[in-house]
Amino acid sequence: LQDVTEARRVEAVRRDFVANVGHELKTPVGALGLLAEAMQGAADDPETVQRFAARMAHEADRLARLVRELIDLSRLQGAEPLPELVPVDVDTVLAEAVDRTGLAAAAKGITIAVGGRPGLVVRGVEAQLATAVTNLLANAVAYSPENTRIAVGARARSGFAEIAVTDSGIGIPRQDRGRVFERFYRVDQSRASSTGGTGLGLAIVKHVASNHGGSVTVWSEEGLGSTFTLRIPLAAETPPDPDSP
Ligand code: ADP
Repeated sequence: LQDVTEARRVEAVRRDFVANVGHELKTPVGALGLLAEAMQGAADDPETVQRFAARMAHEADRLARLVRELIDLSRLQGAEPLPELVPVDVDTVLAEAVDRTGLAAAAKGITIAVGGRPGLVVRGVEAQLATAVTNLLANAVAYSPENTRIAVGARARSGFAEIAVTDSGIGIPRQDRGRVFERFYRVDQSRASSTGGTGLGLAIVKHVASNHGGSVTVWSEEGLGSTFTLRIPLAAETPPDPDSP
C-alpha cells in the first residue's frame, strides 16, 4: 500500500512539473508569435521592425535560458549517472563564475570582490560547481541595485569549503526564504518576468550541493541583502590552514 501511495506522489510531482514547464514555455512562445505577427504588419517601417526584432531576441534568450536550465536540472536529478568526484580548485571555480557574470555586473555598475581563503580543494565536479556559483552570483547581480558591491569567497570549516556570496540587494522576505530553492518558485512573479528569471537557478544549486554531499543555505534581511552559503566537502588535497597552529 505504501508503494502505491509513493507512486501516486511521484506521479503528482511529475504532472505538476510538466504543467509548470508548459506554463513557463507558454509566455515566451506566445510573445514570439505576437511579435512576429506585429512585425509582418509593420514591414514598411524599418524602425518598428528593429524594435520588434530586439524584443524577439530578448524572448528567444529567455526561452534558451529556460531550456538550458531544464536540461541542467534533469541531468542533476539523476537522469544521468553522476560523474566521478575529483579534486577541484575552489579558486578556479570562483574565477570562472566571476568571469561569467562580469558583464552583467558591469552593466549595472556592480563590482564583484573575491576574497576568502585561497588554495582550497574540494571533491567535486568542476562544471557543476561553476554552474552553482554562477547561479548565486547571477542572482546577486539581478536582485541588487546599481553601483553596489557583491562579495564572494571561500573558507574552510569542519571539513567543508564554505563558499559565500553576499549582496546588499533587495533581500528575501522571511516567509519566502524556505521556498526559494523549490523549482519555479519566485518571490515576485511580476518582478521575475522583467528580470528574466526562470525560478530554476536555486533548484539547480540545491541539486549540485546534494550531489556533492553538501548543502546550501540562505541568510537574508529585506532591504539589507542576502548571503547564500554553499558547503562542499573538502578534499584531502587542501593544504593545512596557515592561520591555525
Ligand atoms: P530566478 O531565475 O527567478 O532568479 P532562482 O531559483 O535563482 O530563480 O531564485 C528564486 C527566487 O529567489 C528569485 O525569483 C528571487 O525572488 C529570489 N532570490 C534569489 N536570489 C536572490 C538574491 N540574491 N536576492 C534577493 N532575492 C533572491
